[in-house]
Amino acid sequence: MKIVILLGAPGSGKGTIAGRLVAHNSGFKHVSSGELLRDAVKRQTLAGLAAEDFMKRGELVPDQVIADMIKDYIADVKGECTLLLDGFPRTVVQAEILDQVIEGSDAELQATVLMEVADEILFERIAGRRTCPKCGAGFHIKTIRPVKDGICDACGTGLVIRKDDNPETVKNRLAVYKVQTVPLIDFYSARGVLKRIDGFGVINDIVERVRQVLI
Ligand code: AMP
Repeated sequence: MKIVILLGAPGSGKGTIAGRLVAHNSGFKHVSSGELLRDAVKRQTLAGLAAEDFMKRGELVPDQVIADMIKDYIADVKGECTLLLDGFPRTVVQAEILDQVIEGSDAELQATVLMEVADEILFERIAGRRTCPKCGAGFHIKTIRPVKDGICDACGTGLVIRKDDNPETVKNRLAVYKVQTVPLIDFYSARGVLKRIDGFGVINDIVERVRQVLI
């Protein structure tokens, strides 16, 4: 298995781009740490209970909680594929745990793709974001409109605004990104695996930029 880390601030388009890559190439698989956690919260599992309050505040959940979920996910992946890790790792400690997981498996890190987007654009994107609470598909009221207003194209469920997409929490999530996740840029850059992508523009163009660095 190859692993591609998608790195970027909230609203940088990691999930959207991963969704497009998977839709056009069955060799890709996509896992979003945020989705795993939201599902765990919904099901009120132990991990979900441990994560819920951190998520409401826009803070990171404890490293070990999310690392264990990702480890279990990777262990369950069958067959050859390129796994797109969206939202994990988000701290240097998580990156070190991922290194250990990779060392103990037949997986290899192909690249870390950094989606670069200006802060004003991030706020604008998140303000218009609508999410499917059932399958996790993401939409935007202006740029990624569903066929039927307010309804998920993939599964027909009513779209919602994520609880942590309110302006106060978004501000906190961006501050947390800068302090806790930005150090990963140097971490992966030092290894020569960091690929910087301009995350602004038309979605198809951004997808193409990512595709090009993964060839
Ligand atoms: P996301 O859907 O990636 O924006 O994540 C939503 C929320 O889930 C974040 O604000 C964090 O509270 C939590 N979360 C997701 N991924 C991680 C991670 N790798 N480490 C810690 N917390 C995470």
